[in-house]
Amino acid sequence: MSDVFASPRTSALFGVFLGLAIALVILITMSLRAYFRRQAARRREQEELDQEIRMVQHQGTLLAAAISHCQSQLTPAEIEQLPRYLFSHADSKPDLVAVGYETSSTCGICLCDYSENDMVVNLPCMHAFHDQCITPWLSASDKCPFCSAAVKLVASNENNA
Ligand SMILES: [Zn+2]
Ligand SMILES: [Zn+2]
Repeated sequence: MSDVFASPRTSALFGVFLGLAIALVILITMSLRAYFRRQAARRREQEELDQEIRMVQHQGTLLAAAISHCQSQLTPAEIEQLPRYLFSHADSKPDLVAVGYETSSTCGICLCDYSENDMVVNLPCMHAFHDQCITPWLSASDKCPFCSAAVKLVASNENNA
């Protein structure tokens, strides 16, 4: 028996098998390493993606906060400071026409014609509205409902000038 295993042919065959087995083990090890490396790379990519998503979400939150800050409203005192006058059909308001105020006889919010002695408010953007129409609007937004010009900004600039 020992002669059979010790024979050169058997030794050569055993050598070939051993070589094949070693090659197989190396191949498996290499593909396993490649697989784990790919998994790790995928995990890293996922983590980077998660981080980017978190960053975008954070920026979105900041942007939403900035937008909500932009969409601020006027205080009752600020609304009170806006120039207003009693509408009169007899009065042509030459001074208001001269500075470019809206001379339309219709309120841009309720679309009704001004009646005699209606209280009309002039915005810095030269648009005019009923007092009772523009006051609730400016309590919710600091922009002209007609042209979106910032009422607060223009008003404070005028105060500084
Ligand atoms: Zn109105
Ligand atoms: Zn306007």
